[in-house]
Parts: sequence; structure tokens; C-alpha cells
Amino acid sequence: MMTRKKYRTHTCGELKIDDVNKVVVLSGWVQKSRDLGGMTFIDLRDRYGITQLVFNMETDADLCNKARKLGREYVVQVNGTVTERSNKNNQLPTGDIEIVVESFQVLSKSEIPPFTIEKDTDGGEELRMNYRYLDLRREPLKKNIQLRYKLGQKVRNYLDSQNFIEIETPYLIKSTPEGARDFVVPSRMNQGQFYALPQSPQTFKQLLMIAGYDKYFQLVKCFRDEDLRADRQPEFTQIDCEMSFVDQEDVLQTFEGLVKYIFSEIKGIDFDFDFPRISYEVAMRDYGSDKPDLRFGMKLKELTDLVKGKGFRVFDQAEYIGGICVPSCGNYSRKQLDKLTAFVTQPQVGAKGMVYVKRNEDGSISSPVNKLVDRKDLIRWRKRLNAKKEDLLLILSGDRTNTLSALSALRLEMGNRLGLLRADEFKPLWVVDFPLLEWDEESKRFHAKHHPFTSVKEEDIPLLEKDPASVRANAYDLVINGVEVGGGSIRIHEKEKQQAMFKHLGFTDEQAEKQFGFLMNAFKYGAPPHGGIAFGFDRFAALLGGSESIRDYIAFPKNNSGRDIMIESPSEISGEQLKELNIFLSKSK
Ligand code: ASP
Repeated sequence: MMTRKKYRTHTCGELKIDDVNKVVVLSGWVQKSRDLGGMTFIDLRDRYGITQLVFNMETDADLCNKARKLGREYVVQVNGTVTERSNKNNQLPTGDIEIVVESFQVLSKSEIPPFTIEKDTDGGEELRMNYRYLDLRREPLKKNIQLRYKLGQKVRNYLDSQNFIEIETPYLIKSTPEGARDFVVPSRMNQGQFYALPQSPQTFKQLLMIAGYDKYFQLVKCFRDEDLRADRQPEFTQIDCEMSFVDQEDVLQTFEGLVKYIFSEIKGIDFDFDFPRISYEVAMRDYGSDKPDLRFGMKLKELTDLVKGKGFRVFDQAEYIGGICVPSCGNYSRKQLDKLTAFVTQPQVGAKGMVYVKRNEDGSISSPVNKLVDRKDLIRWRKRLNAKKEDLLLILSGDRTNTLSALSALRLEMGNRLGLLRADEFKPLWVVDFPLLEWDEESKRFHAKHHPFTSVKEEDIPLLEKDPASVRANAYDLVINGVEVGGGSIRIHEKEKQQAMFKHLGFTDEQAEKQFGFLMNAFKYGAPPHGGIAFGFDRFAALLGGSESIRDYIAFPKNNSGRDIMIESPSEISGEQLKELNIFLSKSK
């Protein structure tokens, strides 16, 4: 019988000192080659690692000369013997050995790659996106993609252990309102009609609860047409979950368990405490954000009652005045403070200006508003903000919403400057009691803050008519280090209540029926109380990997304009296709 010749007997990350003298076959890419006098060394790379190949001019000049012609990224198969290295490399898992090559063949040549395929590359973002398959060969990306895979596996393990089952839901559906625009797909068979890609499987997972599948999850693509940022992609993945016969407490405990399991398995971090729970109201009051970073303090303090109405015009006109106390920065120079003012007044932060008060070494206070503000008042500010000697007070004012958000940005900026945002520290919390509704200035009406299927806190039901803005929902977010990792709610499961909610949100009965009749119909046939949550899978992976950019954790992401520049998508479609779909493009385009 002929023995089958295999492409490889081992991977490039596998061979160690115990394998010395083995005759092996390896296949991989030429990472780089070095000629040193009589010897040629080649680093052979695959998904698993790098193994050094060695060719010796003295023992086989022909082979060595042939090896010298191998270019970067050539794919080669080599036969040789594992040998102990005299010059060991303790940076490499295979660094104790090398392969003395007896023969090799080129499986595939490579042009000179457009950027160096190494940990630190010279390739710019655009170039690397254009050649994503080359970028993905690089170690940092490989690590990210593997981390992502591991996260998925661990999620499945945990949820499986808790009796959840994974069920797929369709992608060609109709609008599910999660607050973004839909991506739509024209139907050839139903001309003039369109599918919408799911912004989430929300309605389907609720239907699965009605169907009796009381613990569902899915690692699922969601599609939202919105402006993109480092942590947003038009298509992204969720760990989408739903449970029946649960209240908020059950959901929080189940998924706190998931988060703890993931951190323990992936980062070796054991959270041996209950995650803190902060109401939305307190999060906004203390951090100016519904996703507070708890790695440091520096809480916001409101000063409106102390400051307003004292004849200082900027403050008198403000709805809200608040500040933070930055420890040990009372010695900031004029230049440093000017820079901070520039930071808060940039359009993304949006403050009109900044007032600072320094507490000096001797305990005295100095501030450019010294002459405008009564000394006693300055002392009151200092006390409210609990400023110690050599601390710096930074104060912003304006309308409440924008000032809180600017203070939140300033707090993070100072935390960053003072090195308080430690990459190896993770501070999870639940933000609970979100408002049910959010006022939209543009459409001049309330929108669901989470989504229209979210239930109202029992005790707030009477407020629905009187004071809709203050109504709280059974909705919660899981936040880690200032990142919203997941969010969900206990749902409405009664037809009448869902109908009433649509009314509050400004839907006519006809509109509600047309868009969500199927769900309300299903509620007629025995809907269990249910609730759930969805985690941003890409974001979770990025957080675990220590990055802000989810793109680095997606094999083929889109750029900031929602384009895949490698495959050139989106792109025009042929006249033929348009005709089939009965779509006519306007001339102006
Ligand atoms: N569907 C929601 C979302 O995508 C999550 C949930 O309520 O379970 O944010």
C-alpha cells in the first residue's frame, strides 16, 4: 500500500525540545528569511506559531541557494529533522528547536505583500482593510479572532448548562424597532415590497417564549443603519437571550452568572461580589452618564443651589451647574487649564466654558472668578465638592442634559490623564430603573428608550398619563468600565397593555396592528411573563481583549462609511437585476 503523503505532520507552533530527532513535514508561510554567512534561516508561520527552518551551505549548497530565493509569504512545505538550537529564543514557544531542512517545495508563490505582516506593521488602516486576509495573518488580529471564538464557546457552555437552547430566527423580516434605521431588501417575488433586516430578533424571541421555549439564546447578527463609530458596525453580533416565568431579579442573577463565568474562564478574574446596582437617576447624577466607569471616583456634584441667583450671569442663566474635584491638580498651570477649557468646549463635548477653582498648598483658594463670587460662596463650593489641599475644582454650567454629558466627558478625560483607567481592572455594574420614554425634539414626541415591548414599573403606571417623562421601566444595562456590554428588560406580555403602550408612543391602532399585529395576536394565546437581555458580542470581545475598537474583533468589518473596501460593497447592481425587482432609480443619482 502506498503511504499517503501528508501536507504536514505538525503545525508550526507544536514542536518542542522533546521532539528532537523527529522527522517532520511542516507547511506554512515564509514570515522572513535571514542569510548569515553559510547559513540561511527562515521563520515558517501558520495559525499556531512560528518554527525556525535552517539551511546549511556546507551540507547542501543547492538547497540553501534555492531557499535563499524564497520570498516573504511564499507558501512552502518542508521535510526535515527537529534539532536542538544552539542559540535558543525564549520568546518563542518553539524557540528551543529548529528544523534542519532536507527538502522543500513551493506550494504557492506570493507577490511582495503591500505591508509587513508582523505584529507592528507599516500598513495604514485603509491599506490593511483592502487586504484584510493579509492583515488577519498578523499575530494581534489572530489573537483577537481566537478570543472572539473562545468567548462564543464559553457563552454556549454556560447557557447550555443553564438549560438555554440556541434557536435561529430569520434575517428577512420586517422592522423591529431598536431606534435605528432599517436595512431593507427588495423582494423579487413580491414586487414593490421589502424585507427589513432585523435590528434585533426581539419580536421573534418573544414569540419563542409564547411558543413555550422558555430559555432561548442565539449568537446572532443584527443590522442597524446608523452613524458609525469605533464601537459600532452596521452589522454586529449579539448574544441574544430570553427567559419565561422570570422577574428582573431572575434575569440579573442568571446573566451576572454568565459574566462572572466568562471573566473567570477567559481572563482568570473571579468577581467574588454581587455587581453593584445603580439606578439610572443616580448614574446620571453622580457620573453624568448611564454607563459610568467605576474604575475611579471623582463623582459629579451639583452646585446649582449654591451658585445660581448670586448675580453671576453665566450661572444665573444656567439650568444646571455642577463640578468635579480633581485630586492633586491644584498646581495646574494656566496652559494646562487652557487646554482643559479647549477640551470641554470642542463640539463633541459641547460646554460653553469652564470655571476652575484651585485649592492651594496652604489651603487658600484661587480662581479667576474670585472677584465675581463671594468668598464665602467659594468656600461653600469647595466644601460641597470636598476639595482637599492641592485639589482642583472644575465647574460647568448650562442646560442639564448637555452639562451632565460634558461633565462626564471631562471626568473621563481627567481619569485618563491621571492614569486611573487601568486596562487590567474591570468594574462591572448594573444600571437599573431606566426611564421608559425619551423625548425626541425632532419629532416632538416620546419614544421608547429601550424598545416598545418594555414593561413599566408597577408603581409608576399612574404616572403614564400625568408625567410620562418620569415613568421608569423594568429595564437594565450591564456596564463594564464605561462600556454598555448588554441591555434588556422585562416585557409586556398582555395584549391590552401592549396596545396601550403603542398608543403612548404615538402609534395609531392601525399602525400598531400593521406593524405588530402578529405579536399582539400571539398574546391572545397564552403568553408567559418573560424578559431577557442582549449582549454586544463584538463589544464584549473587544473589552476582554483590552481594545475600544470592535473592528479589530471582526474578521471582515466595514469602515466608517459602512463600506467593505476590499469587496467594494455596497455597489451598484445591474439594470437586469433592477428590472427584475421592478426598481427604478431616480435620474439625479
Ligand atoms: N433587543 C434588545 C436590544 O437589541 C435587547 C433586549 O431587550 O433583549 O437591545
